[in-house]
Amino acid sequence: MGRILLLPDEVASQVAAGEVVERPASVVKELVENSIDAEANRIEVAIARGGASLMRIVDNGIGMDRDDALLCLERHATSKIRTGADLAKIRTLGFRGEALPSIASVSRFRLSTRAPGALEGTEILVNGGKIDSVKSSGEAPGTQIEVRSLFYNLPARRKFLRSENTEASHVQHQLNLQAIGHPQVGFVFVRDQNVVFQAPPATALADRIRDLRGAEFLEQLLEVSPESLSGITVSGFIGKAGISRSTRAEQILFVNGRPVENITLQHGLREGYHTALMKGQFPVTFLFLEMDPESVDVNVHPAKREVRFREPDDVKEAVANAVRKTLETDRKRWSQTFQKPPPTAGLPESGSRNPITDPTPALIPPREQFSLRRDWSGFNPAYPSSAPPADSSTIEHLSVGRESIDRSPGGPSPDDSASALPSSSDGGPSDSRKTSFENFASRSGSALDFRILGVLGKLYVLMENADGLVVVDQHAAHERILFEKLRKQMESAGVPIQRLLIPLTVNVTPKDYDWILMNAPTLEKMGFALEPFGDSTLKVDGIPPFFPTDDPGLAIRKLVDELRSITTTTSRLRMGEDAIAKTVCRHAIKANDDLRLPEVENLIRDLLRCDLPYCCPHGRPTMIQVGYGELEKKFGRRV
Ligand code: ADP
Ligand code: MG
Repeated sequence: MGRILLLPDEVASQVAAGEVVERPASVVKELVENSIDAEANRIEVAIARGGASLMRIVDNGIGMDRDDALLCLERHATSKIRTGADLAKIRTLGFRGEALPSIASVSRFRLSTRAPGALEGTEILVNGGKIDSVKSSGEAPGTQIEVRSLFYNLPARRKFLRSENTEASHVQHQLNLQAIGHPQVGFVFVRDQNVVFQAPPATALADRIRDLRGAEFLEQLLEVSPESLSGITVSGFIGKAGISRSTRAEQILFVNGRPVENITLQHGLREGYHTALMKGQFPVTFLFLEMDPESVDVNVHPAKREVRFREPDDVKEAVANAVRKTLETDRKRWSQTFQKPPPTAGLPESGSRNPITDPTPALIPPREQFSLRRDWSGFNPAYPSSAPPADSSTIEHLSVGRESIDRSPGGPSPDDSASALPSSSDGGPSDSRKTSFENFASRSGSALDFRILGVLGKLYVLMENADGLVVVDQHAAHERILFEKLRKQMESAGVPIQRLLIPLTVNVTPKDYDWILMNAPTLEKMGFALEPFGDSTLKVDGIPPFFPTDDPGLAIRKLVDELRSITTTTSRLRMGEDAIAKTVCRHAIKANDDLRLPEVENLIRDLLRCDLPYCCPHGRPTMIQVGYGELEKKFGRRV
């Protein structure tokens, strides 16, 4: 007597439902996807009690005739693929033919559907997978599905449902995803008879994001102008540099219209944001990837949440490239707002300057501001007082601190010639009358125009540019400047090694030992001179000048720990950058460091010359623009 039985269809559907129907949100997802596949441009979703008691999805799509309506409840019944080969080129959201029978097997289910032009529609009632009745109905063209008492026949599953609020918020998240993914479709979401959101069909994704999240949110995003790389087109919106979240909830990614979670895409984002993203934080994205359906396998997860790429490296690079370019474009745009003159009333300068394209002199030119504010010069003119002398001298060697904060409008710095590396400034002390625009213009070919208004709370530099007020965090700004300088040094020549008078020996674990030896060339570029010295012992001859010296052994072990924890996919260079980001923080000017006006001005100038000026190497913002529009709103001049 055989022990094996074929499961009755109902039971098989319930088993399948275990994978597809996890909670109300998964029902809503499947049904909304069906409506989108059915070419609806209006979808209304209503739920009651978190969806556990009722979910109703109404669409105005192509509907079904009676035969199809009956067939769609059968397992593995689908209109979306015909052959196995079709699986390789899926363009619809659905293809498994499992959702409707699965949902109907674990609920009290009502389907009412009518094709446009059909004289009448069909209504089918199903209870726990058994068809109760089939009759004609006279509803509007489209499809209406009601799912009541989810899991009523599977008490064990029902117990797994969370609170109404939790379930409802999952439903809302799903709908948000679908609404972002399909701006051309209008959505209405009603929860317990209250309209939660209503998004009319939109022609542009920006409009959809604004409808769902508001104009202020949209202002934090940058549009990705569609970029194609290796047949992968990336478009959508990403958060500006420095904008991040502590969870992935707003990291929304679509592949061929399907919201997905995928590690390759996450790596691509991280790579693209690089230091524009705080460690441990996640970017805000609404990114769309379009590619040949044959190069992505969507059939790897029952709820179709995940995908697998045939060429993950290409995909990662396409994402990273799109993000990089978008941030770069924004940087250019931003720096342009510093090239237009601030709209402060002023007298045009005589001479050949073009009053329209040339910066209009500010009402009080910077040098006058300086002399007006003599009190500034009373502050300690030396390099930030809080930096210990030893530290500041090591920094001098790297020539990063001194030149970025041009401390003296007048006298030369005492150790100008001691600078170990070529400085990017013109060299020599600058004339106070010419510290600013002319000098910079001759260097980069583009003048920067802004006016420093003052420093708030010894930390925030307030300045004016063409768009309004800019607030700069002087510590974060200096971090960014030091970081980029050190990184450039590392990329080109490597950080100079500071030889130790007495070499150190450092004990490390055998695992770390192997790792260190393998990465010795990189570590050398970072300024470490290390040699094997017997079993799991290293001899350290030199360390980078900025490395903390009180206990180099401990510091090296810590550094190795940190470096190892950086994922293997990031480049070797990135590894060094991380160490740099950590160390520059210690050397950057702090809040409470009094800077004189010319110092502040140079700081800002250096910042604006950075590759990524608007956030520090940890991804925090360095400056915030408060535009005239925002001020007008706040003062009620504009609504
Ligand atoms: P799949 O979407 O994978 O094909 P489903 O079980 O979700 O499987 O749906 C089965 C079939 O029912 C679909 O292929 C489609 O032809 C039809 N169908 C489902 N929902 C709708 C709808 N809202 N409008 C029109 N047809 C639908
Ligand atoms: Mg489906």
